[in-house]
Amino acid sequence: MEYKDLIYMDNAATTPVSDSVLEAMLPFLKNQYGNASAVYRIGRDAHQAVEDARRRIARVLHAGAMDIYFTSCGTEADNWALKGTARKLAAQGKKHIITTNIEHHAILHSAAALEAEGFEVTYLPVDEKGRVTPEQVAAAIRPDTALVSVMHANNEIGTIMPVAEIGAICREAGVLFHTDAVQTAGILPIDVEAMNIDMLSVSAHKFNGPKGVGVLYCRRGIYPQNFMDGGAQERGHRAGTENVAGIVGMARALEDAAAVREEAAARMAVIRDHLQEELLKIPDSRVNGDTEHRLPGTLNMSFDGIDGQSLLFSLDLKGVEASSGSACASGSLDPSHVLLALGLPYGQAHGSLRLTVGKYNTMEEADRVIEAVTETVRELRGK
Ligand code: PLP
Repeated sequence: MEYKDLIYMDNAATTPVSDSVLEAMLPFLKNQYGNASAVYRIGRDAHQAVEDARRRIARVLHAGAMDIYFTSCGTEADNWALKGTARKLAAQGKKHIITTNIEHHAILHSAAALEAEGFEVTYLPVDEKGRVTPEQVAAAIRPDTALVSVMHANNEIGTIMPVAEIGAICREAGVLFHTDAVQTAGILPIDVEAMNIDMLSVSAHKFNGPKGVGVLYCRRGIYPQNFMDGGAQERGHRAGTENVAGIVGMARALEDAAAVREEAAARMAVIRDHLQEELLKIPDSRVNGDTEHRLPGTLNMSFDGIDGQSLLFSLDLKGVEASSGSACASGSLDPSHVLLALGLPYGQAHGSLRLTVGKYNTMEEADRVIEAVTETVRELRGK
């Protein structure tokens, strides 16, 4: 099957770079190749492009430009926020961190690494829809709590967390609040001021930007301990030659996404709801997560007796590109930690299908996906 005939419905894993983004990036991959730290003209021009991108990204997030730090991806932003803050505040005797049990592995594995260094981590349990409450956070905060990290929306089930309320609790308690907004920055409005966010992670490839570039927003005065040591880039806080083309592409992608945010979300939701309605007609099927507080393009379903990997392989043969969970977890045979956290039995946590609608999906594609999934589940069940 040719690439053009495939139906890509895994937009939570990554998204294609848009024409507008590619166009913005190209000059910086060709003629304007200067190192942003160099003092001569092509270096200064690259520097200016980076600073312009910083201002534009800051504007979308309602942040100060000087509070935007460029990173190599969302994973780096998460690692930096968690490890850098914990290691810095340990000197003040704050060695406790609060997070949830459905975070992305970039957070969970960073938290585990900190536990191995002697930090204590509280993993708040989510309810059957994947939400934690501000009250749970309030009850878990201790005098030695350094940081709370709760994701804005989950990558497997799309559940949106009450981050503004959680941020308010943290602010009142004098505890730093980080949110992983990798799944939301291109889809939901973000206002770091109104939402009481101290640190926030973004990744460009989730909103039609390039792979390998991200942001850690850090409120002025909060500098996690450096994670990348080397040159004096990013005002001495994050070393490494700037990915100029990537940064410029990310700014364009974020602005493009923000410009059409509401209509794009409404379009995605219509397609997602159609998928959900039709796929629920398959006997013994259910939707996982929260159908009220949910990202507009996300649908996570389980089909009794169906193994997720077999379903994905069969769908792939039919030209449907979907996932059974997070991009990094698929390919592993472990059941989803997110679905287990919702309380799903092992079999169901193993057999989920995640469809994530993006900017370029159509209703016609949705109909072909419905047909393929319905047929595949029937085949796998041997009926
Ligand atoms: N956090 C969440 C919620 C994600 O979904 C992902 C990617 O799937 C990441 C972090 C990691 O981002 P990146 O792929 O840029 O490293």
